[in-house]
Amino acid sequence: KRGWIEVICGSMFSGKTEELIRRLNRAKIAKQKIEIFKPTIDKRYHEEDVVSHNANSIRSTPIGFAQDMLLLGGSCDVVGIDEAQFFDEGLPEVCAKLANSGVRVIAAGLDMDYLGKPFGPMPALMAVAEYVTKVHAVCVQCGDIANYSYRIAADEKQVLLGETDSYEARCRHCFKEGMKRK
Ligand code: ADP
Ligand code: MG
Repeated sequence: KRGWIEVICGSMFSGKTEELIRRLNRAKIAKQKIEIFKPTIDKRYHEEDVVSHNANSIRSTPIGFAQDMLLLGGSCDVVGIDEAQFFDEGLPEVCAKLANSGVRVIAAGLDMDYLGKPFGPMPALMAVAEYVTKVHAVCVQCGDIANYSYRIAADEKQVLLGETDSYEARCRHCFKEGMKRK
């Protein structure tokens, strides 16, 4: 059995979770053994389920450290990971271990934080992945393709869990304009 790593990245509302669920459901149809992990930090909608903004959902296992995936994930055909940006820097190595042992790893996560900076373990994971898919949202200001998650709320910590009340998808131009006014 041969494994590999797929990354699905993009801004908030770009459809990362939707795309992850789509790929995992297809693996399920093919009767593959799958396991979905998410960091315990993400409690936005549901303690256990992975839920997209258009309310698709799939059962998942919340874990505290990337390492925790090895035990359950090692015996799977496919391992899905959502909100991968919130994991520790051990994530690329753990994904590589799983892939080396024959697991197809699909990780979805934000490539940039609200300042437009690379987010946590995502850049390193993207570097070692066989496939990287970048998905895009729609800029709520002008309708162009959105690549950035613009924070409306006035909080300055990197991790601020929130929804449409705290963030909006913006294109390069509208993101830059917004940051100027801050
Ligand atoms: P992500 O995991 O990347 O945050 P989701 O898969 O949870 O994204 O949600 C994608 C869905 O969000 C879209 O199908 C759409 O229904 C909704 N949505 C809300 N705001 C936007 C936006 N600005 N651009 C695109 N989709 C949006
Ligand atoms: Mg998501």
